[in-house]
Amino acid sequence: MISVAIDGPSGAGKSSMAKRLAAELGYTYVDTGAMYRAIGLYALRSGADAHDEAAVAALLPEIRLDIAVVDGTQHVYLNGEDVSAAIRTEAAGMAASAVGTLAPVRAFLLETQRALARSRNVLMDGRDIGTVVLPNATVKIFLTASAEARAERRRKELLEKGQPADYATVLADIKARDWQDSHRAIAPLRPAADAVLLDTSAMDIDESFAALKAIIAAGIARRG
Ligand code: C5P
Repeated sequence: MISVAIDGPSGAGKSSMAKRLAAELGYTYVDTGAMYRAIGLYALRSGADAHDEAAVAALLPEIRLDIAVVDGTQHVYLNGEDVSAAIRTEAAGMAASAVGTLAPVRAFLLETQRALARSRNVLMDGRDIGTVVLPNATVKIFLTASAEARAERRRKELLEKGQPADYATVLADIKARDWQDSHRAIAPLRPAADAVLLDTSAMDIDESFAALKAIIAAGIARRG
């Protein structure tokens, strides 16, 4: 089985690139952030404090997560309910970031993520795929861009959705999330020692896509 691990900070374009690459390569795209978001959403709905390890750990036995790929898009089911849209809110993103710092939550998701990569070719994105989840991934990529470039892309994206946003606020949010993701005690965001680093600050979407495709092809060829 071939596995491609793509890690990197928020807003680096991991999910849009990974979706496009998976479609082109015929691999299954696994969005691990969506799983953290689903647990975050469950904590929110239960009224639990998403930072409280004991409270969140007590909820885990009640949670059944199922992942299915429908028309090439990953759907996440929380106890049978398709929450793929509900997990995309800002509140679910913040709750995901909070529950992602908790050891019981990371342990709960680890086996689900590994199992997905055992039976099919995957392109998995997240923060700790190359370092923790798939240490033997065929190809590991750390996709990044400067905080400024990511903030500008995010501002444009929000504007296109009719949600004008202030650049300074977006930049501050990105920096805060970077700090939280890279300074947590368990599975912090950092490149695996054997990851290929790609900084797309000065690249457009097509250039980033071409660079990623080349890295993946070279990585697969090297592993034979
Ligand atoms: O990638 P996305 O923004 O959907 O992820 C939501 C949050 O889940 C991230 O801010 C991060 O803190 C957490 N996460 C994680 N490990 C992963 C994927 C996401 O801790 N593999």
